[in-house]
Amino acid sequence: MSKYFPTIGLEIHAELKTKTKVFCDCPNDAGEKKPNTNVCPVCLGHPGVLPVLNKKAVEFMIKIGLAIGGEINENFKFDRKNYFYPDLPKGYQISQFDLPIVKGGSLNISSRLGSEKVVKINRVHLEEDAGKLVHGEKGDDSTYVDFNRGGVPLMELVSEPDMHSAEEAAAYGRELQLILRYLGVSEADLERGQMRFDANVSISAGKELGTRAEIKNLNSFSALENAINYEIKRQTEILEEGGKVDQETRGWDDIKQKTMPQRSKEQAHDYRYFPEPDLPPLTKEGFDIEKLRLEIPELPNAKRKRFAEEYGLSGDQMNILIENREMSNFFEYAVSELEEEEQKEANMEKIKLILNYLSSDLRGLLMAKGMNFDQSKITPENFADLIEMIAGKEISSRVAKDLIIRMLDTGSDPREIVKNEGLGQISDEAGLHDLVVKILKDNPKAAADLKGGKDQAVMFLIGKAMASLKGRGNPETLKKLFKDNV
Ligand code: ADP
Ligand code: MG
Ligand code: ZN
Repeated sequence: MSKYFPTIGLEIHAELKTKTKVFCDCPNDAGEKKPNTNVCPVCLGHPGVLPVLNKKAVEFMIKIGLAIGGEINENFKFDRKNYFYPDLPKGYQISQFDLPIVKGGSLNISSRLGSEKVVKINRVHLEEDAGKLVHGEKGDDSTYVDFNRGGVPLMELVSEPDMHSAEEAAAYGRELQLILRYLGVSEADLERGQMRFDANVSISAGKELGTRAEIKNLNSFSALENAINYEIKRQTEILEEGGKVDQETRGWDDIKQKTMPQRSKEQAHDYRYFPEPDLPPLTKEGFDIEKLRLEIPELPNAKRKRFAEEYGLSGDQMNILIENREMSNFFEYAVSELEEEEQKEANMEKIKLILNYLSSDLRGLLMAKGMNFDQSKITPENFADLIEMIAGKEISSRVAKDLIIRMLDTGSDPREIVKNEGLGQISDEAGLHDLVVKILKDNPKAAADLKGGKDQAVMFLIGKAMASLKGRGNPETLKKLFKDNV
């Protein structure tokens, strides 16, 4: 055990999915266009143009603030953050300095870690995204710039230094991603660069926090975790050798799996922030906070609690549903369509069946088609019907699996399909008797084994019967018949 304990604070950027960019009316779909076609004089920073604030972007920020239990500032404003970089056409970025839209808040990540953990949030502010530099596109060392992304609304959420492991940092990042998706304010897709992390990491042996290094632009959860772990190790080695950690900005090399120095504190930018003169300061009163609050859906943690209480769910089963809102809506709708049983256990049994067939069969089939649950031809009512048929032993599980495929293709009612195609489970002994006798005769070895007390032989015989019945035989009835007739 190292005597040093790590501390981590995260700055998370996420692109907001408004219809248009934050200060002009270019569509906000940068990624889908040819480079430099989704631009206008405003987002290219031409002289003489004026930014006009997209109200929706502020409303999204307010929703984020409410969702994390933060405070919406009475007054907030925009500031210019000045620095020169080729992806920034104006030579400054419009951001927020001392009066962000949201201050404070917290995120509970206990459910992801399995232990109590609340991470405090310092602030959330709104800024504009920069363009994108493309290096070595033509196989040489030239760099191209694409301004399509310039001016896309970007939220930056800054945590307090409250995390103490890479695992906690990743859990926090995942929970925020989920909340942004629930709120419908960002797709927060890391692969498409819609969510990015800067990780501040320090280690300390005492009460005082150590000197931190900031690792910029981590664009996957694995990069986030690996970079933090690398940095903890690097800093520990420095201190153990009697050295001193420099306060600096570092980059992450995903191929070498190492952090690299970018600039030291001495080289740190002086951004010369000053209030953006082209945008008026704003007040909370200018926004209908209560309306926005009502638009916030049930958030992941509340849903976890309710799913545990109402459906007895936990662990992975629960998380599959929480991570996929369409799937959990489908699940709840189907559950509400079930017929109420006298006994609580019988209801729970059916809910389990729904969950199993949803998370294995239907989910797999939909994924193969590139669809989500809201696009399924199977309605929750029909799915509930199917579950009633399985629970009532009207059909076998093998038939059920086939039925789901058919229902997905046709959108038909399962009872209709079963009736029209004679797929119902055959349970009556009289109907199965002749087949059982024939199979015993055709398979004398297995029959002898069964007779001699080798119980496993019955599985082979049931398999034979199922094959000729196309899965429609009731296995319990078959088992009994084989034993009785051998
Ligand atoms: P800056 O604006 O220079 O990046 P901030 O004080 O706003 O600095 O902090 C940025 C991030 O660094 C925050 O997420 C904060 O929690 C984190 N942080 C600050 N001090 C430390 C520290 N000693 N160790 C780890 N993280 C830290
Ligand atoms: Mg910073
Ligand atoms: Zn524009």
